[in-house]
Amino acid sequence: MTEELHPLAQSLLQWYDQNGRELPWREEVPDPYKVWVSEIMLQQTRVEAVREFYHRWLERFPTLQALAVADEEDVLRYWNGLGYYSRARNLQAGAREVCNQYGGRFPEEREAALALPGIGAYTAGAILSIVYGKAEPAVDGNVLRVFSRLFCLEGSVQKSALRRAVEAEVVRIQPRQRPGDFNQAIMDLGALVCIPKQPRCHRCPLHLLCQAAESGRAAEFPQRQAKKAVPVEEMQAVMLCWQGRYLLRRRPKRGLLAEMWEFPTWPQAAAGEEKIANRLGELLRVRVTSEREWGKVEHVFTHRIWRMQFITMQLQGEPEPLPEGYVWWSPAVDQAVVLAGPHRKVAQRLLEEQK
Ligand code: SF4
Repeated sequence: MTEELHPLAQSLLQWYDQNGRELPWREEVPDPYKVWVSEIMLQQTRVEAVREFYHRWLERFPTLQALAVADEEDVLRYWNGLGYYSRARNLQAGAREVCNQYGGRFPEEREAALALPGIGAYTAGAILSIVYGKAEPAVDGNVLRVFSRLFCLEGSVQKSALRRAVEAEVVRIQPRQRPGDFNQAIMDLGALVCIPKQPRCHRCPLHLLCQAAESGRAAEFPQRQAKKAVPVEEMQAVMLCWQGRYLLRRRPKRGLLAEMWEFPTWPQAAAGEEKIANRLGELLRVRVTSEREWGKVEHVFTHRIWRMQFITMQLQGEPEPLPEGYVWWSPAVDQAVVLAGPHRKVAQRLLEEQK
């Protein structure tokens, strides 16, 4: 029996059939692995920025199995530039779990999908609806914006109450026949028409059904709480060069930029040039002296900003062999080393200086 579609779903799907975006991971028969990779890459990154990374990734890790058996360094290298490296690690851990527990096939059940590393309600809903045709909501920022406008839903986007209200509306309207297309249609509408600033209501297929458009209140939704000021941390990083190579240190296993390589860095308040020189001197068993400021780099994380001062230092003699967790590194030669975001900017500049 043909399902009677909600008028919103009908208009939206008609629009999607003609205007939906052509994206490399949208295939006639969607592949769960490809959809999974794309959804993780797209978190807080624009589609245009993701395309190139996605193609490179699939050339190197064409299947879930290829990702599961890959070396972690390699995985991080191919993620390099997308930020949030824990996503890449989770993706690989998830691939391994799917191989070990589900014979390499992404699970069809919501609970099983949610139990995989790095998979939250949005990603599970997106994969299950797009790949397996399950009627599951997939509520991300785009969907929150579109639905809060469609129904003039009050409440801050940062609060779970609004998310729950939107999920309930999606579940009510989502057609059983094309749930994945419905989810993707809202995402596309949010990206192309119901955009954050100045929504293009005159071009919107839902114009006549939209409560915010009807009452001229589209700009009021979604509502937001005032942003808290992001703390700024002053940091000092050392560029210690010996025989054309720089000293790098591996960051701890947990926490910010976990396990990535960096020019040794300390919070300014706890360090100071002299203390840092002494610490490095003890490490290398040779006198280290401070030279000059090389430059400044600002790096914005989600919850903090690092304002980093890079200082060059010099060795006054031959250093001892390095302990574990340190390497001598050359920007031109050792490109396989995965540098943490702010340090990558410096490496890029060093490479340009050497040209
Ligand atoms: Fe968004 Fe305007 Fe469409 Fe309403 S009519 S969904 S506010 S673009």
